[in-house]
Amino acid sequence: MRNTGAMIKKLILLVWPVTCAGCNVVDQEVCPKCKLKLQEYISPTVVVKDDVEVYSGSNYQDTMRKLLLKWKDHGRLDLDRVMCKIVRQVAIKFFNSECKKFLNRRLTSGRNKIIVVPCPSSRSSVKKRTRLQTLSLALAVASELKKLGVPAQVKQILKQKNIKKQVNFDSAQRAQNKQNALYVVRRHRAPPQGKGVLADKTDCAKLLTANCERVVLVDDVCTTGATFRASKLVLASAGIDVVGCIALSSTVLE
Ligand SMILES: [Zn+2]
Repeated sequence: MRNTGAMIKKLILLVWPVTCAGCNVVDQEVCPKCKLKLQEYISPTVVVKDDVEVYSGSNYQDTMRKLLLKWKDHGRLDLDRVMCKIVRQVAIKFFNSECKKFLNRRLTSGRNKIIVVPCPSSRSSVKKRTRLQTLSLALAVASELKKLGVPAQVKQILKQKNIKKQVNFDSAQRAQNKQNALYVVRRHRAPPQGKGVLADKTDCAKLLTANCERVVLVDDVCTTGATFRASKLVLASAGIDVVGCIALSSTVLE
């Protein structure tokens, strides 16, 4: 059976060859040469951007930048494995530096969960990219944290409206624009049938704060830190505590 599988794989490659997202040679999603180059940019580290402490997986430069853009904007969904592997390493670093503190505080009881929240994109950009890329990263982070014994769960509690074009905006205007577009999802549960009671509105934010759940934000690229900052402010205004920001990649500080 294994041979049949390998044969089918070879046949698919003949009809539809996979090219390396870094250098376009017909090989695998990233050829060994590019994988080696990529290693130069992978280093889980903590950077401070716009007063926000960010756990970042790589330097957003050269091969890393090229592969990330292919994955994000040019439909190379087959790079998920490569990208998620990087963000998993960041999750381990985050765990070693931060999570142990929470573990000492009843985290294992199951009530003090870590909620992993993917940073949102506007509806139009999700439509253009066919999906929310940060969601796959968030799922990888949550699964790595779970492996380390942290009760973690992904929830898309932050959404973003379509925003005005930012071309002529300075950084402060961009940040404000982003913040204005973000909102916390409030889910409403339908009233129990036939009981004649008022709608039992279940507010995500209230539920999270009542259960003492804490949020870890996950984004793909962190440049100025404005997205994390805006997300933190919006969640804080709903009473939600953000305990960490994780990025797949970040620009190097000048
Ligand atoms: Zn290559």
